[in-house]
Amino acid sequence: MSQGKEEGRRFYACSACRDRKDCNFFQWEDEKVSETRLAAREECNRNRQPSFTHRQNVERYKSFVLLPLSKRKFCQECQQLLLPAEWEKHCGHQFLCDISIAQLKSPSQLLYPLENKKTNAQYLFADRSCHFLLDLIIALGFRRVLSVGTPRLHEMIQSKASQKEDFSVRSLLLDIDFRYSQFYTEDEFCHYNMFNHYFFGGEAAHETCRKFLYQDKGERVIMVTDPPFGGLVEALASSFKKLMTMWRETKKEGHDNQEMPVFWIFPYFFESRILEFFPSFSMMDYQVDYDNHALYKHGKTGRRQSPVRIFTNIIPSMIVLPVEEGYRFCTICQRYVSSGNQHCEICNSCTSKDGRRWKHCALCNKCVKPSWFHCNNCNCCALQDHVCERTEAGCFVCGKAGHKRSTCPSLSLTKTARQTDKKKRQKTPKKVKMGICKKSAMKHAIFFRKRIKNKKKRCNLPC
Ligand code: SAH
Ligand code: ZN
Ligand code: ZN
Ligand code: ZN
Ligand code: ZN
Repeated sequence: MSQGKEEGRRFYACSACRDRKDCNFFQWEDEKVSETRLAAREECNRNRQPSFTHRQNVERYKSFVLLPLSKRKFCQECQQLLLPAEWEKHCGHQFLCDISIAQLKSPSQLLYPLENKKTNAQYLFADRSCHFLLDLIIALGFRRVLSVGTPRLHEMIQSKASQKEDFSVRSLLLDIDFRYSQFYTEDEFCHYNMFNHYFFGGEAAHETCRKFLYQDKGERVIMVTDPPFGGLVEALASSFKKLMTMWRETKKEGHDNQEMPVFWIFPYFFESRILEFFPSFSMMDYQVDYDNHALYKHGKTGRRQSPVRIFTNIIPSMIVLPVEEGYRFCTICQRYVSSGNQHCEICNSCTSKDGRRWKHCALCNKCVKPSWFHCNNCNCCALQDHVCERTEAGCFVCGKAGHKRSTCPSLSLTKTARQTDKKKRQKTPKKVKMGICKKSAMKHAIFFRKRIKNKKKRCNLPC
């Protein structure tokens, strides 16, 4: 495999966009940036600032709700609530008219979802899943929800709180989508980058978050997050750990060893990655569904099933999944599982990850997907029509065909030595790519690029 000279040289790039097309910021770590370039960059940043600050947006909202219905317009092109004096400036744009209070209370319906995969990847919870999450949160006794990239959950909590006097749950939304600042005050929304734990609102926003995490009168806090699935697990984990530390530090005494309760919503095939960073987490069988994601809609007919799950540090037995949707309690595993998830006597666990019944392979000594068969060539289970690695690609170590790296004869190491070596290799820092977010986030962004080159590519989706 040819490796360029620049391979491994550290650089800064935008952690929020993760795509040079959306933000072309690039700088070598050790690069000296000229005054002219700095000035140009500042200029570029200034031009890309939102037209109003969060404070201004809050004031505008106040004026907006005072307008009669007929004067409440929303510019779909600019994704902005308009005051009458601004109508002219937006002439030729598409408006939504007669914006009701109900619409203002459901901004996730009013704003179009930013679906570009690399940046926002905004996939909104289906009502069913959103209700399930909120009911679960309430049943578990939480009164505060730190909603990190979960605008629809936040919105559901906010609107319930405004409708019912006795509804005592509160939510703070942290999200990169600044459009939400038009609908929420500084105590309800912070402009935040979850890939580098950056609060755009500076110290004041930090303080808002800190205050929110402070458990007053035993009002228990949970963090719920649903990051873009293309995001790097280590970058996200590092931010979440910082939020968890913030929570721990707000407490005066006691529970020093406790972790802030978390729901991290992510596809099941990231299980091992997430557990690497959060060994206290476990994956629930509940399938999270989305409104605007064709693939991840609820598969009642058994067609497409959502691969998205809840990872949590709450004791699994406490996460009650809806029996009417087919989940049942496994008394041995002490957790709710999908109806198709059979308890395997040999693994001593309910092993299915995707909701279908998995089968045990004695040779692999684990349960595998129902569509897989044991391949003697590859020495593992795979789809029947897979391309055998052994015959296709040469060995990674010696390049010869007929065997894989793990069985390469040119490796004189003993098996155990090889394993320790492997472990060590995994621990050495991955190639580091430093990221800087656009605008002022520069000093704060660092993220790592997963080394995927050498990894086997195997389809993790239900095949
Ligand atoms: N299912 C959730 C939405 C998840 S989509 C719901 O219905 O509430 C991912 C969310 O993360 C979006 O709201 C998106 O704006 C936000 N997001 C994307 N990148 C982000 C980043 N770098 N920092 C913070 N939030 C981000
Ligand atoms: Zn407009
Ligand atoms: Zn079981
Ligand atoms: Zn098994
Ligand atoms: Zn097998």
